[in-house]
Amino acid sequence: MDKKLAQKKITQLSDELEAHNYRYYVLAEPTVSDKEYDDLLKALIDLEQQFPELVSPASPSQRVGVKMEATAETVTHAVKMYSLDNTYSIEELREWHNRVLKGLSGDAIEYAVELKVDGVSVALTYNNGVLAVGATRGDGHNGEDITHNVKTINSIPLKLKKKSGVPLPENLEVRGEIFMDKSDFEALNDQRRDEGLSVFANARNATSGSVKLLDSRETARRNLKCFIHSFGRIDDDKLFETQSEFLKTSASWGFYVDPRSQVCPDFDAVVAYCQKHQESREDIPYEVDGVVIKVNSLSQQQSLGHTLKSPRWAVAYKFPAQQVTTRVNAITVQVGRTGVLTPVAELEPVPCAGVMIARATLHNFEEVQRLGVNAGDRVLVERAGDVIPKIIKVVEHSVTGLKKTFKVPRQCPECGSTIVREKDGEVAYRCINPSCPKVMERGLLHFASRGAMDIEGMGEAVVVQLLEKGLVRDLADIYGLTREDLLTLDLFKDKKADKLIAAIKSSQQQPLSRFLFGLGIAHVGQKAAGTLAAEFKALKEIQKASAEDLEALPEIGGVIAKSVETFFKLKSTRELMRKFMKAGLNPVEMVEEPLGDSLAHKRFVFTGELETMSRRDAAALAKRLGGKVSSSVSGKTDYVVVGRDPGSKFQTAQKLGVQILTEQQFKEMIDG
Ligand code: AMP
Ligand code: ZN
Repeated sequence: MDKKLAQKKITQLSDELEAHNYRYYVLAEPTVSDKEYDDLLKALIDLEQQFPELVSPASPSQRVGVKMEATAETVTHAVKMYSLDNTYSIEELREWHNRVLKGLSGDAIEYAVELKVDGVSVALTYNNGVLAVGATRGDGHNGEDITHNVKTINSIPLKLKKKSGVPLPENLEVRGEIFMDKSDFEALNDQRRDEGLSVFANARNATSGSVKLLDSRETARRNLKCFIHSFGRIDDDKLFETQSEFLKTSASWGFYVDPRSQVCPDFDAVVAYCQKHQESREDIPYEVDGVVIKVNSLSQQQSLGHTLKSPRWAVAYKFPAQQVTTRVNAITVQVGRTGVLTPVAELEPVPCAGVMIARATLHNFEEVQRLGVNAGDRVLVERAGDVIPKIIKVVEHSVTGLKKTFKVPRQCPECGSTIVREKDGEVAYRCINPSCPKVMERGLLHFASRGAMDIEGMGEAVVVQLLEKGLVRDLADIYGLTREDLLTLDLFKDKKADKLIAAIKSSQQQPLSRFLFGLGIAHVGQKAAGTLAAEFKALKEIQKASAEDLEALPEIGGVIAKSVETFFKLKSTRELMRKFMKAGLNPVEMVEEPLGDSLAHKRFVFTGELETMSRRDAAALAKRLGGKVSSSVSGKTDYVVVGRDPGSKFQTAQKLGVQILTEQQFKEMIDG
């Protein structure tokens, strides 16, 4: 295909894809299947790979995301991004309305009312209708450049539609809110829990974390949405006269605008809107924490102006927090995957904002103490965006409850073994019995989870039965499972059994990093597991490593090092590892070919930013030449390679008289 034809096809495919995108994400009226969409996208990406010079920044292929190397750049907002004043009752709202009336000397006022989504504000700049920059609010003057992540949000157009009637301004900056549906938020947290990652407290935190990721391929997976509610700069200020016209125009350009926004002819209608949505907030698929009320006329807005912090022509009406009081029936203790005990309040079921609440998390035992809560007490419970309700305070102690205080159990509620408390000021209490049934259950699920050994079909129902029937007593046992074993489980037929056996078998080839993560060693997350695997390559090398060896690695701190050492020293661990080997597991990590031995036995430390390569690459090079790399300087260090803005390691090196190399000297050493 020649270039001209390729350009034509690329444009055609891009337009078609964006049109499907708009129908799916903004109008919610798709006209093609996911498969058809994916095929079109693939065709586009193939063409773009053949003609890389034809890739436009607004190509739908950009929506799949990229991995950024550096941290975000600062963007200065052309027009300050204000925050909003809050009101917490209809009376307060009325006072605001009276101030507006006064400010406009009694002119008639129409209000534009919109829901206040609990998300992250974003400013989107379009030049000639093409998305150029996406930025966070930051401090109102300067925000962070999050363009790479913004492009992955399907309801944000990469190119604006040129509708007849409403001309596109050359320069346009609109503002909106990025958010996550409640269901997507819960799914994300479920997945993170499976992977042993920390969960987000609420959808807003999850959104905020997602838009700041360096790797926007991950952002693309999080189903973020965005609606437009305001504008910053528009070249042509005669395009519309009211906020509601702005919203209508925005929609015609292809933006997603909240369909619940509306115009209120008077203040009574505003009150009715607030009350209606306060009652129905549970039915809205995303978190809404109030209503934003804006004076509709832009010229009236202008004459009211701003205070230092916020516009005088707009205000937020915040919904009251969703709180109720109820009785604590009991405080129970849950055992998690790593054996950590978590106290949970079992509540007298009570309706709160449309759902029944029967449990509240107490996070940890110090929280129980801080609240002074006990069975029988009446407590104030809140659901504030979070999925799991929490206890705010005790409102009335029960008479009997006062006499006895809640005690941390000495024994595991599931297996009866003695509970230990970790040192180093950790608040966690753990059951350290590796064959505790609850720890086993959670641990097995984790081992099989997507981020670890990825054994499809090994879900909760299967795991619980395998343990109950005694078919599995430790992690290695799953590799001895037969088809006949599986056929004894509920709902298992030939096909399902074969599939699971195949999944178990293929997991034997998983790399060391996944295996290590799957073992569920305390404090060893995906990242630490990756570092360990990359360094040691083979399981038996890690087993031999001392805490000191481990701590010398970049990104491995003392707590992790100690935890790994302790884990592999345990007799039970050694037996388990032998069992894995016997079952045919010998997990390894891809090995980088050695290049020579010119740096044999030399210990390097890197500090500061290198010019021509990343520190990771430099360290890898040193290792491939036989050198060793540590994260801290000691008397044993041979060379400290110093880049731009070096850290305290530089001073330590000078103090200890360790030889210092510039990047150039290091490169000469390698080449020589
Ligand atoms: P606050 O952060 O409490 O000062 O509230 C101001 C923020 O509310 C703005 O920066 C927006 O990000 C957000 N917001 C949510 N929905 C709207 C809306 N419909 N109109 C204006 N701002 C909104
Ligand atoms: Zn236990």
